[in-house]
Amino acid sequence: MTPDLRRTKILATLGPATDAPGVLDELIRAGVNVVRLNFSHGTPEHHGARVAAVRAAALSAGREVGILADLQGPKIRIEKFAMGKVVLKAGDAFTLVCRADAPPGDATQVGVSYLGLVGDVHADDILLLDDGLIALQVTAVDGELVRTRVMTDGALSDRKGLNRLGGGLSLGALTEQDEEHIKIAARLGVDFLAVSFCRSAADMDRARALAQAAGSDAALVAKIERAEAIENLVEITIASDVVMVARGDLGVEIGDAELPGLQKKIIRTALEHNRVVITATQMLQSMVDNPIPTRAEVLDVANAVIDGTDAVMLSAETASGNYPVKAVEAMVRICLGAERQFDRDTDFEKAPRGLQRADQAIAMAGMFLAEHTKVRAMLALTESGGTARFLSRFRSSVPIFALSRHESARRKMAMMRDVFPVAFDSRGLPTREAARGAIRQLFGMGLLAETDRVLITSGDHMETHGSTNTLRLLQVGAGGSAEGMGEL
Ligand code: PGA
Ligand code: MN
Repeated sequence: MTPDLRRTKILATLGPATDAPGVLDELIRAGVNVVRLNFSHGTPEHHGARVAAVRAAALSAGREVGILADLQGPKIRIEKFAMGKVVLKAGDAFTLVCRADAPPGDATQVGVSYLGLVGDVHADDILLLDDGLIALQVTAVDGELVRTRVMTDGALSDRKGLNRLGGGLSLGALTEQDEEHIKIAARLGVDFLAVSFCRSAADMDRARALAQAAGSDAALVAKIERAEAIENLVEITIASDVVMVARGDLGVEIGDAELPGLQKKIIRTALEHNRVVITATQMLQSMVDNPIPTRAEVLDVANAVIDGTDAVMLSAETASGNYPVKAVEAMVRICLGAERQFDRDTDFEKAPRGLQRADQAIAMAGMFLAEHTKVRAMLALTESGGTARFLSRFRSSVPIFALSRHESARRKMAMMRDVFPVAFDSRGLPTREAARGAIRQLFGMGLLAETDRVLITSGDHMETHGSTNTLRLLQVGAGGSAEGMGEL
């Protein structure tokens, strides 16, 4: 019997906790598929060292591990306090000083780095600091001063983030610093580039142009974490390769009660448009301090799997938590359990009509056959990974082995649910021979067994992207040979 494969992918954020000797190797062996470099922290040298460490650990584990660079974006922050921290009381007056040379803060005022804030906010707006732990109600905007009243007691420390409830702060998505970071990410050869606080398709187009100009072919990730991004969700999805349900900031801007519905909507929209989707933030938050998750966290991860996400993400749990490896192990366990519960939606009545592309048409036909002929696996001989992406949007019960000679395509496929990237070079082989070679290789890897039936997609010109035009149905014979069959 061939092994039980985990379908949902795990994305883990790197940080001080994963820099400790041996931890990265353990994380990758435990099952991390993609790692996240947080460009809000660290120097280019530091990111470079982590990229090298990940590539080395992946090589020694024999895994395809993608690397995602997460741009900081226009996160609005307060400046520093004279004492590092103040305690605010509900009802107190508190002023935000929007000036480049604002004095160090105290219990009555603090500077804000985004000078345009005075033009964006109005009396009665609610401003949320530190992911919503402190709420301020604007009483007046007075020149460069935003006067507020504190709504809830709490402590506030240096450089905490600031959001407006309901969104609408007009800062552009890519800062000058992000533009520099895109060049660094391109030099490091990252596989994914995440745009924080994007508002529109234009923001994603601009990021793509900058990435391409810097020589990067990274897949673009739109982090959905602003109210405006929800309004423009379809356009942003189409302009991106991957979307992220960025529940941390999104919950602050939209209100936490809207999150469950939005998570489902973002996942559904991504799948409808053949895009990959990540569910992120606080998934196993208590594991920063504890070796086991809460039941609520188990349910949260499982529900994201059941909603149909491609990947689930760990943030502080791996970056700075006390149990990074245990957090990954918990995710593996929960994903496998949820996948057994997953009610597959392979209703082809709902499948898209009016197909525009041959590879998409072959993928659809293949999945229809896969569901109705008891095949063991779908094999995709793919250059760019495009066919695998179309195949995986069906969330079928059949694993997809995606064979590509391009390392960068394999690492991008590491984010796709149901897809298992395998290195395979079919250049120069007639496609019939390439199909047989692929079966032989997977048989040798223990991923296929004698009598397994498989479907294989391929193109006449395997050197060209998007050339998939053929579907074959074969049965694995003795020693990994391949035979056609009449009876199903
Ligand atoms: P962050 O993004 O971790 O970079 O803030 C994710 C989120 O906001 O949920
Ligand atoms: Mn965020």
